[in-house]
Amino acid sequence: VVGSGVAGLSSAHYLSKQGHDVVVIDNVSASLLSPWNVMVKENIGELMLKAGKLNDPTKVALYEKHFPWVFEFFQEFDIETRSSNIGIVPKGDFPGREVLQRIKSRINATLVQDTIHTIYFNGKGLSGVEGKEHYEGDAFVLAIGGLGNLYQYSTYKLPPYAFHAALFSLGLEYDFLPFNMFHPFLIVDERLPRALISGEILTRLRFVDKEGKEFLSPEIAHALRTNNHHHLFHKMIKEFYRASQQGPIYAEVVQPLDDLKEKEFGWIVKKITMEKFQIHPAFHYSLGGIKGDPYGRTNFNNVFVVGEASTGLHGINRIGGTAVAEGIIFGRLLAEHFSLKERPAPGRPHKLEKIQSHHQQFFWENLGIEIKEKEIPFGGDLRRFAEEIYRENRHYRRE
Ligand SMILES: Cc1cc2nc3c(=O)[nH]c(=O)nc-3n(C[C@H](O)[C@H](O)[C@H](O)COP(=O)(O)OP(=O)(O)OC[C@H]3O[C@@H](n4cnc5c(N)ncnc54)[C@H](O)[C@@H]3O)c2cc1C
Repeated sequence: VVGSGVAGLSSAHYLSKQGHDVVVIDNVSASLLSPWNVMVKENIGELMLKAGKLNDPTKVALYEKHFPWVFEFFQEFDIETRSSNIGIVPKGDFPGREVLQRIKSRINATLVQDTIHTIYFNGKGLSGVEGKEHYEGDAFVLAIGGLGNLYQYSTYKLPPYAFHAALFSLGLEYDFLPFNMFHPFLIVDERLPRALISGEILTRLRFVDKEGKEFLSPEIAHALRTNNHHHLFHKMIKEFYRASQQGPIYAEVVQPLDDLKEKEFGWIVKKITMEKFQIHPAFHYSLGGIKGDPYGRTNFNNVFVVGEASTGLHGINRIGGTAVAEGIIFGRLLAEHFSLKERPAPGRPHKLEKIQSHHQQFFWENLGIEIKEKEIPFGGDLRRFAEEIYRENRHYRRE
């Protein structure tokens, strides 16, 4: 299993319960999942399906049917939960990183800290992966997260290797690649940790340019002040994006944040002691990804996918707080339906290139919040474009 976020750990846990020998490889675990919230909504399947063809109806139905598995998983790891205004969260002061740590310390799999930079491809699938060590296996589960490391501004950072680009150019099937979710409020101020601001904090801020002038339309500014902005997300993110293209943008604290200290996302308010801090919109979540069936099977032999790396559950937008449940449910489904087509034949090494900062800038500017299809070479054909970027990685220039 490559990746030790919620999806990688869940699949590893249930695969080992099925009697398989499992090795989980990750560099450090970039997984953030700050509050580990699980959104509980009666009509969540219906909501997801509203987004039409980007969803796989079978996956949506399985998500709803197996939702109780989320709580079984929590129980297995003695994670007590409570209800909150953002769904079910672990009880007490128990942040996402500690939850992952608890799971890691209890699962019956070998965990290794390594960064994969080479994959062994045999024409049909993978036979091995390599970092400091070489790992061979009968099957590979890709729990490698989304496309965040392709973008200049991202709310999370994965290892700098073009894992997805390499797999894509080798012929692994992807779906809905240009569909990504962006977040307007990444803190980029050097005095503060890189974190997201959300919820009630937003009602206490004003958004200004470097001259101190408010740049939002009255409609969006009002919606943010009254914490009623979710239905305007699309418009809101564009306003932030366009302002950020003109110069640095800031959040100004207009009402003290002190009383928010003990609430969800409270840790960041403790650190915001200045009147004004710099923010930037950023890539947040991949809606598209590796095409897998509900049991993680891909068009490559012996290669499975789970979690944000995969596709089919979120439609044109992501319903906040569903990533934990998705990882747990589909990790278990993968393990319970796991079967091997054949033992992989030895493959040839294929190096994953490091993603250069000019690519990240190109993606941000051209395949970011406003996709400028006409400017993508090859008439907007993303596959050819990605193949080219991957092949010419070191020499590629924007022009
Ligand atoms: C700040 C923030 C807060 C969030 N909060 C929430 C929340 O509260 N609730 C919610 O539902 N969703 C939340 N999300 C979204 C959620 O975190 C992700 O969708 C989810 O963690 C994805 O899980 P995953 O297991 O699929 O992948 P990830 O957690 O991204 O794990 C992928 C792993 O693969 C590893 N990997 C990748 N490439 C390599 C390589 N070459 N070698 C070795 N290892 C590699 C990475 O190091 C990483 O640890 C949040 C996202 C962010 C950025």
